[in-house]
Amino acid sequence: MKYSIGIDLGGTDIKAGLLAEDGTLSCRTVISTQVNEGARAIARRIAGVIKQVISVAGETDPPIVCSEQIIGIGLGSPGLIIAESGIVHFSPNFPGWCDIPLLDYVNGALKNRAWQAMDIPLYIDNDVNVMVLGELHHGAGVGFDNIVGLTIGTGVGGGVVIDKKVYHGNWNTAGELGHTIVKPDGRKCGCGNRGCLEAYAGARHIVERTQEQIVAGRKTCMNPEQLTPKKIADAASAGDELAREIFSETGRLVGVALTSIAHILNPQLAVIGGGISAAGEDLLFQHIRKEFNKRVMDIPGKMQIVPAKLGNDAGLVGAAMLAYNHKGKV
Ligand SMILES: [Zn+2]
Repeated sequence: MKYSIGIDLGGTDIKAGLLAEDGTLSCRTVISTQVNEGARAIARRIAGVIKQVISVAGETDPPIVCSEQIIGIGLGSPGLIIAESGIVHFSPNFPGWCDIPLLDYVNGALKNRAWQAMDIPLYIDNDVNVMVLGELHHGAGVGFDNIVGLTIGTGVGGGVVIDKKVYHGNWNTAGELGHTIVKPDGRKCGCGNRGCLEAYAGARHIVERTQEQIVAGRKTCMNPEQLTPKKIADAASAGDELAREIFSETGRLVGVALTSIAHILNPQLAVIGGGISAAGEDLLFQHIRKEFNKRVMDIPGKMQIVPAKLGNDAGLVGAAMLAYNHKGKV
């Protein structure tokens, strides 16, 4: 059996785990990221979790020996990642990071300690790209070759996988599906443009759209103070008309964006994850599909729209799959 190590680098925690080629995840470990300590310190912490996973794997029965069985280590990170050269160009979770050669730093930290892990190749990619890769191989996308993914949470991330490989585009920024324009003169998006999907479906924007309606006099059981997407979803499930409308409109706009994506790329599947997607079939997905089916042409309309399956494990599984992909094992 072959294995690879997946690392999910977040602003709060660094999660790691060992993925067997059959998709089983084990030897999980989590440490805090300590963003303020800087890139080299974070690289040492990443090297530390790699060591921990390898040492736990070595104690299993039979032991998993890294140099023979662990084919690689994959790292998923938010932000704009130059996968080929292992550079984090920019990451919202790491203020001040600009063109950080993270893979070199981690490799350096591994070699400094003369760990046997030092010969295992290391790979990096954007966290949503790896989530889509994880879903393709061990989640909702099993059996497909060409899929896209959206994570609807604080922001709206996107990833494109073509022929089972992450598509990076010419300048490594392909797959920004959250910035598909759904209303040309619409709400202002964090990217500086107007009318992006993220400016409607991102968590803060869902809350703001709801608050604006309440201020405008719409009747609701919701308190406009301390609103969260979860509270809006709960109100919607309890039958609050405004809350239901906010989610149906969100779904409609996701459906509009997916129509363009289907026309451009003809993927077989769109997999949708992230906190907002937990609103589920009744509040969200039926509205996405209804709008998509209304607008899309016949043939690209064959694209299926499904919820992500791997949940919190998607980042780890996907990061670990980077190693298999580079080794040409899948
Ligand atoms: Zn945008």
